[in-house]
Amino acid sequence: MRNLTLSLALLAGTALSTPVFADGHLPIVEEPLELSIHLHFKRATAYDENWPVEQAAREMTNIHLKNATVGSNTDNSEEAFNLLLASGDIPDIVGTTRIKEYVNQYGPEGAFQPLNDLIEEHAPNLKAFLDERPELRAAITSADGNIYYVPYFPDGKYGRAYFIRQDWLDKLGLETPETVAEVKTVLEAFRDGDPNGNGLKDEVPYFARQWEEAVRLVTLFDGRTSGSDTYHDFMVDDGQIKHPYATEGYRDGIKNLAEWYAEGLVDSEVFTRGSSARDFLLSENLGGMTHDWFASTSGYNRLSSEIDGFAFKAFAPPASPSGRRLAEHRRIPVKPDGWAMGFGNEHPIETIKYFDFYFAEEGRRLANFGVEGQQYEMVDGEPKFTQEFLDGGPVNAQLYQVGGQLVARGFPQDYNYEIQWTNEIALEGIALYDQGDYLTDQFLGVSMNTDEQKTFDKSWSSIRTYMLERQQAWILGTGNVEADWDDYMATLEGMGLNDVLSVMQSAYVRQYGG
Ligand code: CA
Repeated sequence: MRNLTLSLALLAGTALSTPVFADGHLPIVEEPLELSIHLHFKRATAYDENWPVEQAAREMTNIHLKNATVGSNTDNSEEAFNLLLASGDIPDIVGTTRIKEYVNQYGPEGAFQPLNDLIEEHAPNLKAFLDERPELRAAITSADGNIYYVPYFPDGKYGRAYFIRQDWLDKLGLETPETVAEVKTVLEAFRDGDPNGNGLKDEVPYFARQWEEAVRLVTLFDGRTSGSDTYHDFMVDDGQIKHPYATEGYRDGIKNLAEWYAEGLVDSEVFTRGSSARDFLLSENLGGMTHDWFASTSGYNRLSSEIDGFAFKAFAPPASPSGRRLAEHRRIPVKPDGWAMGFGNEHPIETIKYFDFYFAEEGRRLANFGVEGQQYEMVDGEPKFTQEFLDGGPVNAQLYQVGGQLVARGFPQDYNYEIQWTNEIALEGIALYDQGDYLTDQFLGVSMNTDEQKTFDKSWSSIRTYMLERQQAWILGTGNVEADWDDYMATLEGMGLNDVLSVMQSAYVRQYGG
């Protein structure tokens, strides 16, 4: 009898239009309402109705998401999205990585619903969030003035930091370097002074898991490598869109970096060693300095149990010749990932309220920390992960498995979720970065109209390839950046760089008001 009542309730919920409660009131609908969803990103290639986070969300909102993901057999979200489009059947909700570019292209053509009015009228928490950060509202606005997706908003300021073997400095009687000249002295001492004490000249002074982090050293010479958390991205300089690889600071930085590379101060295998570089070079007591994420890099101090005195500490960005101290990498406040509403969705109000739920306290906590009593307990009014959960492996990986921290869901991250499993040494480093004014504003991307996009697409990819080719050649010592520079700039111009910058500039002014 109870089952029958439940099924009737479910039937009623889907067949009739259900009354929607007032804003902010839970549940969102009186009777359960089913909405279909395509959810696809690298770590989850389908929506799982059994995720504890999803079950809790159902219970709180009465909105039941049903998996309708296309392309779950691939972990390539772009491929999956193209399959979805080809099927011609867009579910009520679509959540995926890089959804921004898809909805900005297909939204104006009618495949996705504009959300502006819905947010204004029915999403008080999301609206408040965007009202407080107008630059984020601008960043998610399409060229036609509409908002077509609700993004994942990362939290926390810092990403990567400079790290150095503190015990090697101590051993060699050196201080933490404060300037780029002092960095060079330290790296030379690492190369020549046998700080690992094995009698061999085997130390790798500067190393990186991503070769782009070797190029990042040009920032120590007043150059730039990116305007955002994406490598090789455009940047905004005094209201003007520029590309870092077409600026004189970069030229000077590359000149110096090529010298460092030739002198063995930078890992000779930096372009080929790959993602295991940090693990290998630290475990083998060979690597001296890098630029990498605070939390995971600090974690290597566990090696002190095997390597006597091992201490790998964050240090502040050293000053460039002009005196600039720059932490070029930081967490970006808005991602191109998140979710959107398909054109055929017949419950836009309920759906926007569901989107809004993740910006309210209960939903935000759920998306960030998981389920109370399972992953965390409330202690003094704050969610605290249980010891059992903290001991169960990397916290983010565990959360993905229960439906938490999904980047294909639009939600505001809460950095407190990460602090709880960030070690003391990382927190010390973050405090050090907090003392200085090292961060710079980020380029949050532009939404180009069809004509602008056409100009961009025509040239950008080949320009970028050419820039990276020259970059690597100069660092490896093929060609001389100073001698080649005028030809390089002329080639970029001939390939259409100024046209690309000009369409981006017009999009930028339209979107952010210049
Ligand atoms: Ca040695």
